[in-house]
Amino acid sequence: MPAKIIQVGRKKNKLPLLENIKIENIAAEGKALARVNERVLFVPMAVPGDIVDVQISKKKNSFMEGYVKTYKELSSMRIKPKCKHFGTCGGCKWQMLPYKNQLEFKQQQVIDALQRIAKVELPEICPIIGSENDYYYRNKLEYTFSNKRWFTEEEMNEPDVENTAGVGFHIPKMFDKILDITECHLQAEPTNAIRNWLRTYALNNKLSFYNVRMHEGFLRNLIIRNTSTGELMVIMIFGKNEHDQIQNLLHQMQANFPQITSLLYVINQKKNDTINDLEVLHFAGKNHIMEKMEELNYKIGPKSFYQTNSAQAYQLYSVAREFAALTGKEIVYDLYSGTGTIANFVAHKAKKVIGVEFIPEAIEDAKENALLNELGNTIFIAGDTKDVLNQDFFDTNGNPDVIILDPPRAGLHTDVIKMLIWAAPQKIVYVSCNPATQARDIALLNENYKLIKVQPVDMFPQTHHVENVVLLEKREN
Ligand code: SAH
Repeated sequence: MPAKIIQVGRKKNKLPLLENIKIENIAAEGKALARVNERVLFVPMAVPGDIVDVQISKKKNSFMEGYVKTYKELSSMRIKPKCKHFGTCGGCKWQMLPYKNQLEFKQQQVIDALQRIAKVELPEICPIIGSENDYYYRNKLEYTFSNKRWFTEEEMNEPDVENTAGVGFHIPKMFDKILDITECHLQAEPTNAIRNWLRTYALNNKLSFYNVRMHEGFLRNLIIRNTSTGELMVIMIFGKNEHDQIQNLLHQMQANFPQITSLLYVINQKKNDTINDLEVLHFAGKNHIMEKMEELNYKIGPKSFYQTNSAQAYQLYSVAREFAALTGKEIVYDLYSGTGTIANFVAHKAKKVIGVEFIPEAIEDAKENALLNELGNTIFIAGDTKDVLNQDFFDTNGNPDVIILDPPRAGLHTDVIKMLIWAAPQKIVYVSCNPATQARDIALLNENYKLIKVQPVDMFPQTHHVENVVLLEKREN
């Protein structure tokens, strides 16, 4: 069928509806892509092989964006999504793709970024390391309570839905709209059992659900964290300090879920949801959970950051360690170290490891974990990487032989790039959650560093996100 352009409405600048568009590929950020009259068209919620009518919402010289109005033909690649909330919930947007295809598209995103943005000589790119569990892989989920939950289309057609309270996830890009979740396949049980039990308990006991616009209501958030060692932390966040109601609820939860090893709670009367600046109160069990990686033990407190897919974090760190190829003699820097998981993971193969991270609490966790594991050769310093790295710092801590980097999505600040070139380590191992900024930084380093190895890793099945590790080696001048 040829693509046909129909002008809808009378308004002069109304953007067109394009009919019978065949989706060809998946591009960066997981957007499906088609080509219409030499222009690229990006469409969410479509997969290669779909034939769709697309309402254009943005039109530029080189590209267009739109959304699917009608699915005319569905791609043979599609499978039935596992979750009943697929399509409305913001998570797991790739459930309609078999995991094998998700991995292919992720691999391709990394290759595209390196070819189009880095534009450097490419080594052979290793096949992506997939996650053994493509569901139930998360070790942390955060649910939000709302007294005005999002109604699905079917519910909108029922005239009098009685219960307007819900607990679940945010509707994408809407801070005040919560989708009531009755099943989620991202975290192993008892995540669903606890959340669903709480909803029933709250409704039976007439407890109020939070209203984020008015800032009132009792039940606010629920955080569930688990580890591969079988430990389970539950943090209940209340919008009001109602002593008896809190005690009753937590007692009942403890009785119903004896597998909880750490039961904590927080009173949050602030406007925002973060608990990082609030006191975490103890109800029962330990105040932390323990994770294990090889011979290392990691202590995870209620506010500690830990990679959300533990099994794949192990794969990722193993790749970083293999690329660093340490012999025991090297001074290693772990920049953007978080709670020092990579630093501590490579410490037994290095002379000394220096971790830098700008959240002071994460640095405290990193130090505690180094102590717990009797690692005497790690140092952790709190500060912004671009301010910390200077001549004094290198003089004090020793010039690095290897630098491992794991920056946030924005990638490296140009000052950091300059300091890397100036410090001139033999190797740079760059771990990234954004292949586009990583590719940009590889280009900036290219005069001094050659791209030697590339290994994509999938930390987040059912989403378009991809992690990539590269090894850069100093060029001999
Ligand atoms: N490598 C760690 C954490 C990586 S996440 C792990 O695997 O667990 C990136 C980390 O960089 C976060 O902890 C964030 O707080 C930190 N960060 C972000 N910008 C920073 C900056 N400018 N200087 C130092 N640390 C920064």
